[in-house]
Amino acid sequence: MNGNSEETDEETDDVLIARFAGNGITRDSADHFRGRLDRRLLMARCADCGRWQHPPRPMCPACWSWNMTMDEVSGRGTIHLLMVLHQGPPATGVDYSTGHPVVTVELEEQRALRFTSTVSDDFPAEDLAIGTAVEVEWIERDGTPMPVFRKAAS
Ligand SMILES: [Zn+2]
Repeated sequence: MNGNSEETDEETDDVLIARFAGNGITRDSADHFRGRLDRRLLMARCADCGRWQHPPRPMCPACWSWNMTMDEVSGRGTIHLLMVLHQGPPATGVDYSTGHPVVTVELEEQRALRFTSTVSDDFPAEDLAIGTAVEVEWIERDGTPMPVFRKAAS
């Protein structure tokens, strides 16, 4: 590709903010959302001690290093917290009348590294429970890739 790369970067930031409007993208979280456009679940990680941190912060809470990077997680984990919402703000693809599941998944990379989303449409209702093993699946929501969780294959 050719052209002015600085201009391209600026446009990329504008596109990112437009595509994730309402997510409150910050300097710390921009790369997490940029990863979503490539269907990669990126989380902040300390380059010095290796500790993961989500939501992203500029400083490592374990060793106080400012040397934070972004790394891709496997997307595998277990349901740590489960809620079924029967009302809420209108959102594309969300049907509160049947109950909208929201799960907080503890990822396998690190204890207490958690990510909250919903589950795939075909998630077996009887397995929607705390402790169920899950893995990330990417769906399109309002034309933007969104990470949700499906029951783990094995
Ligand atoms: Zn650290």
